[in-house]
Amino acid sequence: MASSKNLIYTFDQGDASMRDLLGGKGAGLSQMTKIGLPVPPGFVITTEACLEYFQSDDKWPANLWEEIKTNIKQLENTIGRSFGSNNTPLLLSVRSGARISMPGMMDTILNLGINDDIVGGLSRMMGDERPAHDAYRRLLQKYAEVVMDIPAHHFEDILTTNKAIAGIQLDHELSTAHLKTIINEFKDLIRDKTSTDVPADPWIQLRGAVEAVFKSWNNPRAIYYRNHQRIPHNIGTAVTIMAMVFGNVGNDSGTGVLFTRNPATGANELYGEYLSNAQGEDVVAGIRTPEPIVNLKHANPVLYNQIAEIADRLENYYKDVQDVEFTVEHGNLFILQTRSAKRNAHAATKTATDMVKEGLITKEEAIARVNADELTQLFVPQFDSGVRENAISTGNLLARGFGASPGAATGVAVFDATRAVQACESGKRVILVRPETNPDDVHGILNAVGVLTSRGGVTSHAAVVTRGLGIPCIVGCEGLSIDPASRKLSANKLTISEGDPISIDGATGEVILGHLNTTAPVLKDMEEAQSLLAWADEFRTLGVWANADTEEDAKRASDMGAEGIGLCRTEHMFLGHDRLPIVRQMLLNASAAQDVEEDREDDGSESNLTLFNKALTDLEELQKSDFTAILRVMGTRPVIVRLLDAPLHEFLPQRDNLLSELTELKASNASLSEISNKESMLQHVETLRESNPMLGHRGCRVGITFPSIYEMQVRALITASCDLMDQGVTVKPEIMIPLTSHVNELATLRKSLTEVASKVMRNRKINLAYKFGTMIELPRAALTAGDIAKESDFFSFGTNDLTQTTFGFSRDDAEAKFLKDYLEKGILPVNPFAVLDRQGVGNLIHTAVCQGLKAKNDLEVGICGEHGGDPSSIAFCHHEGLDYVSCSPFRVPVARLAAAQAALGVIE
Ligand code: ADP
Ligand code: MG
Ligand code: MG
Repeated sequence: MASSKNLIYTFDQGDASMRDLLGGKGAGLSQMTKIGLPVPPGFVITTEACLEYFQSDDKWPANLWEEIKTNIKQLENTIGRSFGSNNTPLLLSVRSGARISMPGMMDTILNLGINDDIVGGLSRMMGDERPAHDAYRRLLQKYAEVVMDIPAHHFEDILTTNKAIAGIQLDHELSTAHLKTIINEFKDLIRDKTSTDVPADPWIQLRGAVEAVFKSWNNPRAIYYRNHQRIPHNIGTAVTIMAMVFGNVGNDSGTGVLFTRNPATGANELYGEYLSNAQGEDVVAGIRTPEPIVNLKHANPVLYNQIAEIADRLENYYKDVQDVEFTVEHGNLFILQTRSAKRNAHAATKTATDMVKEGLITKEEAIARVNADELTQLFVPQFDSGVRENAISTGNLLARGFGASPGAATGVAVFDATRAVQACESGKRVILVRPETNPDDVHGILNAVGVLTSRGGVTSHAAVVTRGLGIPCIVGCEGLSIDPASRKLSANKLTISEGDPISIDGATGEVILGHLNTTAPVLKDMEEAQSLLAWADEFRTLGVWANADTEEDAKRASDMGAEGIGLCRTEHMFLGHDRLPIVRQMLLNASAAQDVEEDREDDGSESNLTLFNKALTDLEELQKSDFTAILRVMGTRPVIVRLLDAPLHEFLPQRDNLLSELTELKASNASLSEISNKESMLQHVETLRESNPMLGHRGCRVGITFPSIYEMQVRALITASCDLMDQGVTVKPEIMIPLTSHVNELATLRKSLTEVASKVMRNRKINLAYKFGTMIELPRAALTAGDIAKESDFFSFGTNDLTQTTFGFSRDDAEAKFLKDYLEKGILPVNPFAVLDRQGVGNLIHTAVCQGLKAKNDLEVGICGEHGGDPSSIAFCHHEGLDYVSCSPFRVPVARLAAAQAALGVIE
């Protein structure tokens, strides 16, 4: 049992360090009391008392009630009023507040200690009947809601009716007579609903309120919020009991909320709202529109200066932006709460760096202050301020779908991928609009500034591809009817034809008619983010590389501060609209070529072989220019090129499409050669079909069965490197083999590919230092990493596939079908595809790193899965001693900051 010492602390006994015991609110009030700010007196019932109450099945901890009474006596002495007195009534507020702020989720009851008699004494004391009756009606309303479970709307209905009868709009215009009527109607309602009354005895009121606040820890919205924010359920709430001060006693009184700096922009200016003649809850409830706090500067300079001074003192003490509640009673200012202000990434970055310049905090503290994950917000294109609201209010909202990939985009609607590319080539910005997308549409997606689909969820093809590319996207927008044939979409009684301008917001899911201006921010224009990241670079030991498939990606990665490219995926190069036909030609003739390779005597397939070789040569040229561009951007920074990984059938048209096209050709009497081409394509698609492509013929398995493809890629890479070296550009290419499971796969490929590379270098008379290594993305590879390291200069953990194969989950199926249930039921704490699973996947990584380094002490080790951009996973990589994380260019700043936070122990 808790010792009685831990049940209650008065404000002057506590301080800011006691959040766990006193909750954020109680600790803040105590600390403010300690530094001499005007805080009404009070005391805090500890979270330990609350937990004890729960543990003993809602029985009050021994002595708690006695201690409350003793402390109230003390309060009475301090203030010179008495709780329950008719002459000089003391009123109390009973407030919830946990260690971690859960704004508005639990309950608070104000104005406790009024009844039919006391309201008279209160009127005399206040010198005015109106505020006394206003306080009384508020007490009845709140007490009945919170303690007696009567739905709030019943009280609102009574208020609304009475205001209508009186012909007034606002609560504070209600006269004493109105309030008396309302009080009676409230009492009738309560009697009607519960057959009892709000207790008249102030002490019974108090007991009921404390108990209700304890219980509000477990109300459904609090539980939901804790689940959502991952706040533990077993920490309980503290209960603050303090003297009321009144903002509703006339126009020299009021209430407000103050931010010590602007939480939207980070500007060092007072920001907030003030409502005269009101109680605190009115500001939040939005009953009247409050005035900006700066207006007080002229209206009441004395008060404004006092507030400004307190803001300064609070910031100086907490060394952080504060969000402060205050109330003014007859010109006297009281502070009722302070906490760290929630702010967006922009404001967080600015305030943190400003505070370092002001000498308020250190660089390390600034690094700790900013949520790394939220840094991506800085880079998403945004609609210019106000344009979205404007468009919606003028009736231009077409529909809402699921925001699948955040960012704002504006362009012309195009209903087909190929026409999207053409429109783009003629200089238009395109929003690709489809019922849904599939791999045949990738060229369209790559060229679009935004993608909109009427079907599919947030793991649909469109959603996954666009998120990877950072292209804004809305999916599942069922309010739209999209007709690709007539090239029209309609919604909300509006129709759009191809070429008409539309705008989408991939965060909110809003589809808007017309062109809305957007701006895409760049890091070099962000002075504060640049300073913060430069400090982060001083502290981090983990390298930060990026995944980049194109020259443009590489430039972006470079601008964001990437120190290398950890993953350059070559399949994206195969998917471009100028490439796909060549890739298809290569694949259609590949089996012929394979036969030839197996049996070089067979010349029956000569012409297929010629076609195959021609396609291969064309592709080699294209790949060479891709590699040259990327290598040139990165210069002396390493570039890891992964050889072809995807199953081959991904590059061929879909079987269903081919079937229907074939039927059409036959029906339209097309030429025989056209039909037989289609038929042979169909036959190839059939041949390449797999029952489980994820575990099928892909990765190094393709490299082994079709050696010419990898050989071509290596030749292209090494030739590109030699070209650049000839031009005096030093480059560091690294060749990466995907999906290795056995060291022999690597040994085989290494032998043949090294020969290819050596041959190029011999011909060019250049000695290029390149690395040869593998992804570790299968459990067997991780478990035999010691062997694999013998054939590998580096490891790169492909944690997407490693997570899939460790769990035996296919990601698409898991996310579409059952992962949500797993998370809701708490079977898995988080999505393992978003946050690295340390116990399982992490254990494999740990094993592989240990074995790998033991076999080869200069082995380069990194991670290139999506986890490379997730702060918690980055912290894990830091602790495992990896050389680098590689993530999407947009997440490079996130990774730089998170790596510093991990090094400083801010995140674990
Ligand atoms: P929440 O945590 O939901 O913000 P609070 O406990 O802060 O709830 O209280 C709600 C409102 O009541 C706030 O606006 C607060 O300023 C006001 N309030 C709380 N205690 C007092 C008091 N002693 N005197 C006057 N107003 C108060
Ligand atoms: Mg509050
Ligand atoms: Mg993989």
